[in-house]
Amino acid sequence: MTQGCAYLDYAATTPVDPRVAAFLSQVLAENLGNPGATHSPGRRAAALIAQARTRVAALIGAAPQDLVFTSGATESNNLAILGHVRGERAARRQGGHVLTLATEHKSVLAPVRRLEHDGLAVSLLRPDAAGLLSPQALAAALRPQTLLVTLLHANNETGVVQDIPALAAVCQERGVALHVDAAQSAGKLPLGVAGIDYLSFTAHKLGGPQGVGALYVAPHRYVTLEPQLIGGGQERGLRSGTPATHQIAAFGLACELAAAEREGNARRLVGLRERLLQGLQDLPGVLLNGDPVRRLPGILNLSFPGVEGESLYSGLAELALSTGSACNSSSGEPSYVLRALGRDTQLAQSSLRFSLGRGTTPAEIDTAIAAVRRELLRLRALSPAQPPPVGDWLAQGVRVVTGEAGETRLGTWVRLLLGVDGEFVKAARFQAYGCPHTLAACQALVAQLPGRHRAALQPGSPEQWRGAVGAPVEKLGRMLIIEDALRALQDAWLN
Ligand SMILES: *Cc1c(COP(=O)(O)O)cnc(C)c1O
Repeated sequence: MTQGCAYLDYAATTPVDPRVAAFLSQVLAENLGNPGATHSPGRRAAALIAQARTRVAALIGAAPQDLVFTSGATESNNLAILGHVRGERAARRQGGHVLTLATEHKSVLAPVRRLEHDGLAVSLLRPDAAGLLSPQALAAALRPQTLLVTLLHANNETGVVQDIPALAAVCQERGVALHVDAAQSAGKLPLGVAGIDYLSFTAHKLGGPQGVGALYVAPHRYVTLEPQLIGGGQERGLRSGTPATHQIAAFGLACELAAAEREGNARRLVGLRERLLQGLQDLPGVLLNGDPVRRLPGILNLSFPGVEGESLYSGLAELALSTGSACNSSSGEPSYVLRALGRDTQLAQSSLRFSLGRGTTPAEIDTAIAAVRRELLRLRALSPAQPPPVGDWLAQGVRVVTGEAGETRLGTWVRLLLGVDGEFVKAARFQAYGCPHTLAACQALVAQLPGRHRAALQPGSPEQWRGAVGAPVEKLGRMLIIEDALRALQDAWLN
């Protein structure tokens, strides 16, 4: 839909619904005052915010006065987690404990780590292999000092949906507060606040603009929840700062539309998601990440054994999606969410998250299927799982020499293959498992080998190869593995 590529990254952010964008611009163009002022431009802004509060609250079945508008789910999560625990600790003057899952969003994990740094006990539970936490496992992990349980409703990487009503019942029985991050599920799954103390969500995951979100706060939690932004005392003192009227108004309309169109959208997205799965599931070894049944309509996360994630992802230029591979995450680590589900580094890196939404078309799904199949075929043809591609040389009676280096387990493996005539190279090929730069350097190398003499086999240096393919300095080590393969080739040729 956008810029000639199929946008399949709705879980990262949704394009703003055109009806919402129109309303936002209209509000922005009005001569509005500060919603805290009593003059008429101020009252008009306050009325728009009140209307939005009603619309946003209706999406989650809450009372409008129990919402705090924030800048998004990150801020809502910070306010709920830090604000609740700090407030409770101040009230109780005692140690405490917080319980969460290892697969939570970073905007939950980071505040939890902050609390741990401040001296709080923390349990990071590992979900089962499907990504789920059972009520029994939750009950067993609660402690008398537990102040807060914080859980995702639907996971942003896998789409796995926790059984919040059952988990909330455990928390209620034990008198422990529950915070739920519903950024992915709000507007997509039916959702209520029964048994929930705090619920975070955000406009830009449901067709609204970036930069605005909300936190539901159960009425009995207002007393101890400690604000994390202080100043003018807006939002019942829990979130100071002049509210962004146009953003909030747009968020309200986005929630209203999401609620009205939820069931139809969900049915359509499940159909598209299944079409995508059907188109890819016969690929050898493909693995679905997360529970096959308890999942969001619009997210499909697959791992592809035997191919390197960065090479897979970088070949999919016509798709906008997310991956569990290093090149895409700022941390440079494979997805911690998939690791927690038991996937090894290779599978965590070679995963693709397809997330679908309002604008996704069957044609985009078919583009995605064709692109992924094409790239897997290309990479699998090069992989160590394939026999050396030298059948034609052997049939012609050409002497074959091979040399290899590296290990797929460590991310880079290279095999160079030469057809030789006496002391000279007749033809050269390669197989490789590695990043796009490694593949490109191998490609460039084998193009330069034919005609070379055994004693002067190596064209240039690894540093030059690195420069030629535009690889960053950190990737020199991979070029050295190619040089190792070349040296192994020279040794094999002599013997
Ligand atoms: C996107 C997202 C967030 C962060 O929301 P922002 O509004 O971007 O701060 C938090 N949690 C989950 C599960 C998300 O998907």
